[in-house]
Amino acid sequence: MPADYHTHTPLCLHATGSPVEYARAARDRGLAEIGISDHNPMPEPFDDWRMSLADFPRYLDLVAEARSDVAPYPVRLGLEIDYLEGGEPWIERLAGMADWDYLIGAVHYIAPGWDVDNPKHLSRFAERPVEEIWDLYWKAYTRCGASGLFDLLAHPDLVKKFGHRPSGDLRRWYDPALEAIAASGAAIELSTAGLRKPVGEMYPAPEFLRLARDAGIPIVLSSDAHSPNEVGLDFDRAAALARSCGFAETVRFAGRRRTTEPL
Ligand code: ZN
Ligand code: FE
Ligand code: FE
Ligand code: ZN
Repeated sequence: MPADYHTHTPLCLHATGSPVEYARAARDRGLAEIGISDHNPMPEPFDDWRMSLADFPRYLDLVAEARSDVAPYPVRLGLEIDYLEGGEPWIERLAGMADWDYLIGAVHYIAPGWDVDNPKHLSRFAERPVEEIWDLYWKAYTRCGASGLFDLLAHPDLVKKFGHRPSGDLRRWYDPALEAIAASGAAIELSTAGLRKPVGEMYPAPEFLRLARDAGIPIVLSSDAHSPNEVGLDFDRAAALARSCGFAETVRFAGRRRTTEPL
């Protein structure tokens, strides 16, 4: 079984279960490794779904506690970092604040104050053409991919979460993103979280995944677990989809170095 590198902690205020419980769940389900990757702190209070900067030392303690609980089972230290335009200096600061095994780049904000996956803003989808919303999202995702700041990029087509998708060829959004990601050398995740959301399918769509394969972009399987019972959830389906899209390998991270494992 592959690793699961995208999991959360209660410090972000919308997840339950301690890292100890996530780590035990991963070990008991036969996953190769687990990584904890909670939502990054910001220098100033920013929104209501991430750890505070004051809690950051507590985050490191919680992961250390999980590590010793399940040792020698591998518990990796990661962070899911929001890529915001102009936010690069803070991301570089974060990168120096711990001995990370990997950093995940994520796009939730497509405009100031608009986290596109937040149900609170669902009505905004009715206010303008879906193409414009996809433009905003994929421009941000492409910049995130091009930034070179991250080892792994989260939930590639999160913008479809509530089922809003333009008709026609989606490659006009996919291609620039894939090109930027391939050039930067980051991996992407195949996230089963979308199966539990209104869209009812994994992130990214199979077409995006096939194009990623053609571009030589590596993948990991991710659950984006916000509770211990979600660790490794639907990885059998994810592995089957990845294989059907031509992937024979996933990657592992330790100390921000990547290795390859057969899928
Ligand atoms: Zn979250
Ligand atoms: Fe996310
Ligand atoms: Fe997440
Ligand atoms: Zn996430």
